[in-house]
Amino acid sequence: MSAVVIGGGVIGSSIAYQLAKRGAPVTLLEAREVACAASGASAGGVRQQGRDPRELPIALRAIAMWPGLREELDADLEYYQQGHLTVVADEARLPWLEARVAEQRAAGLDVFMLYGDDLREVAPGLADTMLAGAYCPTDGHAQPITTTKAFARAAVRNGATLYEHTPVTGLVIDGGKVRGVETPRGIVGADAVVVAAGAWSPQIAALAGLTLPIEVAAPQMMLTTPLPHALDPVVGCVGVLLSLKQLRYGNYLIGGGWPASVYMQREQPIGMNRAESMRGSAAASSSVWPILRQTRVLRAWAGLEAVAADEVPILGAVPGIDGLYLATGFSGHGFALAPYIGVLLADLITTGGTAIPLDSLAITRFANAGPA
Ligand SMILES: Cc1cc2nc3c(=O)[nH]c(=O)nc-3n(C[C@H](O)[C@H](O)[C@H](O)COP(=O)(O)OP(=O)(O)OC[C@H]3O[C@@H](n4cnc5c(N)ncnc54)[C@H](O)[C@@H]3O)c2cc1C
Repeated sequence: MSAVVIGGGVIGSSIAYQLAKRGAPVTLLEAREVACAASGASAGGVRQQGRDPRELPIALRAIAMWPGLREELDADLEYYQQGHLTVVADEARLPWLEARVAEQRAAGLDVFMLYGDDLREVAPGLADTMLAGAYCPTDGHAQPITTTKAFARAAVRNGATLYEHTPVTGLVIDGGKVRGVETPRGIVGADAVVVAAGAWSPQIAALAGLTLPIEVAAPQMMLTTPLPHALDPVVGCVGVLLSLKQLRYGNYLIGGGWPASVYMQREQPIGMNRAESMRGSAAASSSVWPILRQTRVLRAWAGLEAVAADEVPILGAVPGIDGLYLATGFSGHGFALAPYIGVLLADLITTGGTAIPLDSLAITRFANAGPA
């Protein structure tokens, strides 16, 4: 069973790695360079907490894989399993957070509420206004560029062929069956083709007559000057666009979904920082973690992300086109899932089945998705 994976982000690279590990002849095709898009721009949060119930089983399995990836991929991924803390400042929202924690515990996640001194012990620099937090100790963060490249390199070490600067320009479909893809290098034949092209997936799916319910967003990030180590978990805040972490050398990485603008440049969309998002992000993050007021912003950037209509990924086979698979629409939270997405797609392609059902994440959950 030969395969082509379209897109050298963390998702495509993980799928290519797992396929290669299973001995399948696999070609990973990347239009530009590995990790050049969402996976390179990512905040790198590795979180189970706060997941849609359809996504949580994947997140639980992915997080079980993360601690072993350093050895498995032979790379320092700057992975820290030091928890994720979702704080709340607004008393009216506290019952909502407590209810979410109860739901997630019932679904098998080790997450619990912290109040008072217990909250400050986990995150001593929190603003006095923070009342409580939902804490999941097995969450964490990792370096997204290193991780993506490590998956791609491990795929190649296991026998995959990687072509960068090789955009897929067409799908070869014959009698309802995929036969390969068209590229400037010529046709690359395959029994299975996986669309893992992030924000560009709708264009590729359209080549097969599919309409993907995906919009392109451009979440924005900021990196600050370093300060002495003070923060272990990743911090989010209910009702605030925030994901905050302190990196290895003391810099703070600030995200949370503040929007950049999407511009077209030479027919390619790019994300451009918005000053008002930078100001909003700085105000929001320092209202939760006040010492940030002593830092300066070193760099800000944005990455293009495929956001599905219901904000959970679109995974699995395309009905009506034998051999065509989708792994896209990760909606701002696909990095953490990537290790197990590779397992799921590789199992599906090589054995026809997966350890957990993918029905609720299939393209068939949307009406009118095609094929046309
Ligand atoms: C700013 C930001 C912060 C984020 N923070 C987090 C976080 O903290 N935690 C988390 O879990 N997730 C986070 N995410 C989401 C996560 O990073 C993405 O869900 C994930 O990286 C998506 O990976 P991907 O491989 O699907 O897409 P991408 O990384 O975008 O990869 C798609 C690739 O396809 C290539 N491509 C496009 N067209 C073609 C073509 N025709 N032929 C060949 N290749 C093509 C592109 O060049 C690109 O490299 C964040 C995303 C952003 C943008």
